[in-house]
Amino acid sequence: MSQHAVPMALTQLGEDEQMFRDTVRRFAIEQIGPLVRGMDESQQMDPGLIKKLFDLGLMGIEIPEQYGGAGGTFFNAILAVEELSRVDASAGVVVDVQNTLVNNALLRWGNAEQKKRYLPKMAADTVGAYALSEASSGSDAFALQTRAELKGSDYVLNGRKLWITNSKEAGLFVLFATLDPAAGYKGITAFLVEKDFPGFSVGKKEDKLGIRASSTCELILEDCRVPKENVLGEPGKGYKIAIETLNEGRIGIGAQMIGLARGAWEFAAKYAVERKQFGKAIAEFQGIQFQIAQMATEIEAARLTVYNAARMKDAGVNFVKEAAMTKLFASQVAERVTSLAIEVYGGYGFTKDYPVEKYWRDAKIGKIYEGTSNMQLATIAKLLLGGK
Ligand SMILES: Cc1cc2nc3c(=O)[nH]c(=O)nc-3n(C[C@H](O)[C@H](O)[C@H](O)COP(=O)(O)OP(=O)(O)OC[C@H]3O[C@@H](n4cnc5c(N)ncnc54)[C@H](O)[C@@H]3O)c2cc1C
Repeated sequence: MSQHAVPMALTQLGEDEQMFRDTVRRFAIEQIGPLVRGMDESQQMDPGLIKKLFDLGLMGIEIPEQYGGAGGTFFNAILAVEELSRVDASAGVVVDVQNTLVNNALLRWGNAEQKKRYLPKMAADTVGAYALSEASSGSDAFALQTRAELKGSDYVLNGRKLWITNSKEAGLFVLFATLDPAAGYKGITAFLVEKDFPGFSVGKKEDKLGIRASSTCELILEDCRVPKENVLGEPGKGYKIAIETLNEGRIGIGAQMIGLARGAWEFAAKYAVERKQFGKAIAEFQGIQFQIAQMATEIEAARLTVYNAARMKDAGVNFVKEAAMTKLFASQVAERVTSLAIEVYGGYGFTKDYPVEKYWRDAKIGKIYEGTSNMQLATIAKLLLGGK
């Protein structure tokens, strides 16, 4: 950007970004499109698809080339999540969690040894998951109860995690536990937990409204032994890792939301031209034209907030407020747009024979995970008004 006297338009892509976006777009349409309905019905991510995501470099977008990654930018990761979610928001979230949460946490907080051990795997074949939430601690995440006690050269972890995305497929978990529940957030520590560590298991899988092909499971830790060297960052500093990775993650959820909103809008706009009532295409009625125009305008506005927050992250400027705003706004837009897309389809939109009902179901999660809309509003208000 520095060679431009005036910054580029936010939606204007560099040559590399455009090529990358087009590759992901083609891949999503050709390789994921035919699988979407079956994966939603079976609540199962196609295992072949995950391998293809690795082969295409989409699971290690920001991992430097020296570790086998694509050496790309955060903005690239955002473009990938948007394009994948345009076709399937479940595929979008697999890539989102991998890049914006797990890889980001490793890149930012991992020591040289941890990077050497894990980054090549994350780029090649290991799915990552991010385990913060528990049954009694969602919005109040730092009230978590999973305990970690140092015994010899290992930490011994006991407790349960809930709602963990990617957990069925994952080989590595960035998992938060407390060294001392009485210490509040100051006890929280991040651990790198491999799925084969003794005492670790993946429990019940949730049967969900949307993003059904994305696995969401409970994690069970029963005297799970984690070597001391698998503490990510410093003991007692896990809260900082959680907050800062989620700040980045929220931009990814914004990207997921604008991607799926655009997918639904495209179907609705096409259908409006094809469907005839009163002897003409419904797209000829101003009522429908205005709905299509309103949806497109909201998607454009949301996309600008996503791209701006992502560009701010890559530029190294503070983006916390913008990340909260983009997740809040993009998830509102996604819910409205996907709902209107069903209305444009009329009764057909309400059936599973057409693609729009799935977009609407998938949109709902945007207001819930990585901090509910109320928690985004609380963050924004605090940054605007100060105070606690
Ligand atoms: C499909 C799915 C995938 C997920 N993936 C992951 C994952 O990979 N890793 C992970 O760690 N977690 C994950 N989560 C958990 C998710 O982040 C939590 O569900 C979310 O943070 C909300 O927590 P909760 O469900 O306990 O709701 P609660 O915190 O109980 O909230 C219930 C309601 O109360 C409101 N509320 C709570 N506190 C306040 C307040 N102070 N002011 C105003 N309103 C408030 C909330 O906004 C919400 O409307 C996932 C959840 C789902 C459903």
